[in-house]
Amino acid sequence: MVYINGEWKQSKSKMEVRNPATNEVIETVSTVGKVETEEAIKSAKQAFKSWKKTTFTERVTYLEEAARLLEEQSEELAQLITKENGKPIADARYEVNDGIDFLHWYAEEAKRVYGDVLPTAAKDKQLFVIRRPVGVCAAITPWNFPFSMITRKIAPALATGCTIILKPASATPLSAIKVFECFHKAGLPEGIVNLVIGKASEIGNTLTKSKDVKKITFTGSTDVGKLLLKNSAETVKASSMELGGHAPFIVFADSDINVATDGVLMTKFTNSGQTCVSTNRIYVEKNIAEEFTSKLVQKVEELKIGNGLDEDVNVGPIIDSNSFEKIMNQITDAKAKNGEIVCGGRQYDNKSDGYFIEPTIIVNANDDMLIAHEETFGPVVPIFTFENEEEIIEKANHTHYGLAGYCYTKDLGRAFKMMEELEYGMVGINDPAPFAIHTPFGGVKESGLGQEGGKYGLDAYLITKYVSFNTN
Ligand code: ADP
Repeated sequence: MVYINGEWKQSKSKMEVRNPATNEVIETVSTVGKVETEEAIKSAKQAFKSWKKTTFTERVTYLEEAARLLEEQSEELAQLITKENGKPIADARYEVNDGIDFLHWYAEEAKRVYGDVLPTAAKDKQLFVIRRPVGVCAAITPWNFPFSMITRKIAPALATGCTIILKPASATPLSAIKVFECFHKAGLPEGIVNLVIGKASEIGNTLTKSKDVKKITFTGSTDVGKLLLKNSAETVKASSMELGGHAPFIVFADSDINVATDGVLMTKFTNSGQTCVSTNRIYVEKNIAEEFTSKLVQKVEELKIGNGLDEDVNVGPIIDSNSFEKIMNQITDAKAKNGEIVCGGRQYDNKSDGYFIEPTIIVNANDDMLIAHEETFGPVVPIFTFENEEEIIEKANHTHYGLAGYCYTKDLGRAFKMMEELEYGMVGINDPAPFAIHTPFGGVKESGLGQEGGKYGLDAYLITKYVSFNTN
């Protein structure tokens, strides 16, 4: 099923959507390719002509109405997210609130697209800087937040007066369909939002190579991000890339071990470790490593694994067999390189065909291990030790990724030093959840370009035009 120019369309080719907790087919959806994507671009281009001229009050009305309709169905949407993605239902409910909040936030922020009047050096000139919508946008979203990544992109696009074509992840198209049903019911004029579901490379190539698409916004892996950037270079598209991460989680001996281990639970096992800001390497100061590890193991062993629809489950399944194999391979590799598994380490038998992995902690970790460099995207974490600040700064930054980093210490001077030295787009000091609706979300190095969220997310959909008036 696709939504182009205000209409839902079916096609002959179909794709199955499976519940990763059971591997059962939950829905079959129509898929499309190049021809329909071109149609969607044409419709978004046509719609942009009038949409860009609307007042912010008109645009805000649609955003708020879509938010209201989604709120009405919030529990149904949360259940859908858990079914197609596998995450625990409490996390899905959180995602629904977060995703709807993006619509509210940008409905507010739409009112604040300000320009500047600059001082002039010449008596007969007046200088203006104005902000305008960038144009037709293409958004490609991942499966790990199948709902909120969509509104995080579509809400600021609509708020600024852009039109958009969305390609959601093939594993999780159902939340996207729900969002578009709400946009349709909200009465959004035709062509402003378009949904294409189908083969990623075919749709991606069509979107990135089109001269009519002026901006690409992507959340996903660094490899796919690089490909999209390469393909977008020909038409010099504006690009926002939220790519992979390899977050260090640093624990100094002066920190509160109880608080720090809670921080690991949140940053490592939420969404079964399948988030780009998940902790990928724990670094603990050597003299507290043993105490820290035993406390962490104790807490991890209490986590309940299972189908996310069970209210008391903390850790759900892995999205698919490829991810499952990749994670298990990191465990095997770590063991072969002298790693010791102190907790978990195996497939979890849930008496279903889902892909479950026991929350796993590896000690004696070293830099030769795959897990020290490769993004894990699973509930597995290695513990490294360190002896001083210089060493840990060097180790934490020794990666081409630079999305999120976490640091636990009670020493204020050290906290400021770490804030400066960590080469990450987002740093949590004694904070495992630094992300919020109004804060800039984005990475440095090969973790991405640009930011989403808050006023920063609005900038990503605006172009700056400078105008000089000669008043003679
Ligand atoms: P992950 O699956 O690890 O989140 P991916 O980068 O593979 O990361 O997927 C994120 C999004 O990118 C999904 O919507 C996926 O379908 C899409 N995608 C994957 N390959 C391509 C491609 N060649 N061109 C465009 N989009 C792609």
